[in-house]
Amino acid sequence: IFAAVELAPRDPILGLNEAFNADTRETKVNLGVGVYYDDNGKIPLLAAVKAAEQARLQQQPPRGYQPIEGLGAYNTAVQNLLFGAGSELTAAGRVITAEALGGTGALKIGADFLKRLNAESKVYISDPSWENHRALFESAGFTVENYPYYDAGTRGVNFAAMKAALLSYAPGSVIVLHACCHNPTGADLSDAQWAEVVEACRERGLVPFLDMAYQGFADGIEPDAVAVRLFSASGLQFFVSSSFSKSFSLYGERVGALSIVTANKDESTRVLSQLKRVIRTNYSNPPIHGGAVVAAVLSSPELRQQWEDELAGMRDRIRAMRTGLVEAIKAEGVTQDFSFVIAQRGMFSYTGLTAAQVETLKNDFGIYAVSTGRICLAALNSKNIGYVAASIAKVL
Ligand code: PMP
Repeated sequence: IFAAVELAPRDPILGLNEAFNADTRETKVNLGVGVYYDDNGKIPLLAAVKAAEQARLQQQPPRGYQPIEGLGAYNTAVQNLLFGAGSELTAAGRVITAEALGGTGALKIGADFLKRLNAESKVYISDPSWENHRALFESAGFTVENYPYYDAGTRGVNFAAMKAALLSYAPGSVIVLHACCHNPTGADLSDAQWAEVVEACRERGLVPFLDMAYQGFADGIEPDAVAVRLFSASGLQFFVSSSFSKSFSLYGERVGALSIVTANKDESTRVLSQLKRVIRTNYSNPPIHGGAVVAAVLSSPELRQQWEDELAGMRDRIRAMRTGLVEAIKAEGVTQDFSFVIAQRGMFSYTGLTAAQVETLKNDFGIYAVSTGRICLAALNSKNIGYVAASIAKVL
């Protein structure tokens, strides 16, 4: 059966982890992964999560199947974060939400559903994008191409090229957009540019698919939802995949959601019925624990406040690492301007380090980064930041 099976290429980022784990140097630092670590280099278990889990454990609830679209209270909580608590869209029944297996699972059921709607559409992702975007939409059967996004010269977004590209695509094309904290570059659109993207999607009849994996990691829950809110106000129909992997530090629990904004309540009923068929044939219904914990936190005013404080703590620590790294590199005598790292948002930065420099960082200093020069700022801490800055200065 398996004689002709070829060895698949290693996942570039998980492969990096394996190499890091095998490295015996005590000073080694892994800046490759997309995970938030605290100042002690540990993945935090948030106090709000701990409290909700303890309460759940005491209740010892039964483990029946969930509805195909997941827990109602969870889906409502997701909608409140994405569309705002008093959203007219949700009140009008124009939003359907299905709990999904992380942001990845949300993208997958969204892609499968879109393929059933319009098999011939092309999918466009940013250049560059999270590496799984292409694979997910290709595995759903789509042809995937890039739209211009990152400008290595300014270390920002080449917005003119992006907008011109959007305006050239065929109606019905699917446009995958990072709602905030662009992965891998850290370069986001301004609010005014988002408004132009909304208009471009309207003008060309494009299908916007917003990917919101980092809500709360740039400026806060509400400001980070600006793209979703602008699309909401536009009257257009669109998709949003969202994830609590990072914002709740619940990576392994696989808690995400797919939300779809339709034209009206009747359309919502029909769309949800079809999305449920997609889910049913993928994994039947989502697991209970992670979604129940998130719903418990978000529906308790005290726990929600505690979570927002903890989320702000993560956001502030990453920002402090951005500033700290720039200052420390400067203090090493490097004249090249790294201040763009402070302007970039979310967990990542495209540092401009070349593949060769990244290789030297690994070989000579035990510092692991993605060959594109992407580093995860959330892996820096007060103990390793000086060593990382000094090492970067040396490879420069
Ligand atoms: N989209 C983007 C842009 C991401 O960076 C990630 C996580 N790295 C995801 C989706 C997937 O999130 P999850 O881990 O919840 O599946």
